[in-house]
Amino acid sequence: MDLTFTEREQSFRAECRDWLAAHVPKQPLPSGDTREGFARHLEWERELFDAGWAVVSWPKPYGGREATLFEWLIFEEEYYRARAPQRVTQNGIFLLAPVLFEFGNEEQKARILGPMARGDYTWAQAWSEPNAGSDLASLRSEGHRVDGGFRLRGQKTWCTRGAFCDAIYGLFRTNPKVPRHKGLTYFMVPLDAEGVRVRAVERLDGDEGFAEVFFDDVFVPDRDVIGAVDKGWDIAMATTNSERGLTLRSPGRFMATAARLVDLWRRQRATADPALRDAVVEAFIDAEAYRWYTYGTVTRMLEGQAMGADASLNKIFWSEMDVRMHETALALLGPTRELEQGSSLTGDDGSWLKGFQFSLAGPIYAGTNEIQRNVVAERLLKLPKG
Ligand SMILES: Cc1cc2nc3c(=O)[nH]c(=O)nc-3n(C[C@H](O)[C@H](O)[C@H](O)COP(=O)(O)OP(=O)(O)OC[C@H]3O[C@@H](n4cnc5c(N)ncnc54)[C@H](O)[C@@H]3O)c2cc1C
Repeated sequence: MDLTFTEREQSFRAECRDWLAAHVPKQPLPSGDTREGFARHLEWERELFDAGWAVVSWPKPYGGREATLFEWLIFEEEYYRARAPQRVTQNGIFLLAPVLFEFGNEEQKARILGPMARGDYTWAQAWSEPNAGSDLASLRSEGHRVDGGFRLRGQKTWCTRGAFCDAIYGLFRTNPKVPRHKGLTYFMVPLDAEGVRVRAVERLDGDEGFAEVFFDDVFVPDRDVIGAVDKGWDIAMATTNSERGLTLRSPGRFMATAARLVDLWRRQRATADPALRDAVVEAFIDAEAYRWYTYGTVTRMLEGQAMGADASLNKIFWSEMDVRMHETALALLGPTRELEQGSSLTGDDGSWLKGFQFSLAGPIYAGTNEIQRNVVAERLLKLPKG
């Protein structure tokens, strides 16, 4: 693997670094998981889009600049380095868009991708149900064939930012007579459709963006089915590996956290437990290791290899590294670590504490780490099924 960046990649990095330095809001925006913060983040997403930075790797007709996967990784490194706002369009641009590029028809792509990239129409993922999380194929929400489309019934839960988004995408059971992975269909549903009810759910940190969504005979036209009817499972699984292994949590995020941790160590070292220095160094090495491992993964992908079960290893690594880094930061902060945003005594306005609370969710979302360990054991280590 060639570890040097090409001239084109270096000038791409310089161009995004300069643009971000000039445009990233000087004051952090309110959390994108609150109503006010979500609206403020969308203004930022539009600014990004208008300057051509919202979806760098997409084709130009949809607002991208056809960046390579390596350039996308570079953009992500610069984005987090600049401490730019979280992407509230994430569940659309990173999770639904790849599905549409691979399985959507031309009408769907033309209608949906532009407004998604500009933050004019926002998407939440509605896969989980109260009794279907890890075992997603046991989902019970149903779709019934009617003239011109389907009628949906059931309940989804844990839809990130679903309380503020315009629409959801999710799987519904359209054929109960075949084995359970086979009779599922991938639908897109506007949240203002007749029969949809959205209930916000508050998180541990007080943000209220999570939603439960109830479907009471909701009509969805045929044009909002992605791919073939009853083939939704294959479509969903085709994109979960890129979510776990690459797009959802790129290395730039953790490199930026590690750099902040090193700064925190420098500020706190006079009073900190000297043993914490090792944890800070380890965090830095872990983030760099994840970076170069990901560059290796992208190299293999560009050579035509699929990511496969390696994505599960990745997901375990980044989520547990994130918890460790935040635990180290809280230990360095000492007695002020439990002070929340708004307290005049915190040196960091509570951002490490909030980050820690969110890091605890990392081993759960995008498939729990217990499930990922099962995948690693069975598919990579070839151990017998548990
Ligand atoms: C911050 C956050 C954001 C999320 N956003 C979304 C979203 O936008 N859209 C969406 O659809 N969902 C979302 N989720 C839900 C997430 O996908 C589920 O929480 C996850 O899949 C686990 O499902 P569950 O909560 O039903 O737990 P369960 O599946 O009930 O699992 C409970 C526990 O049992 C363990 N377990 C279960 N089965 C096995 C097994 N076979 N072997 C070993 N251990 C097992 C699990 O690892 C877990 O520890 C989000 C979750 C979080 C925390």
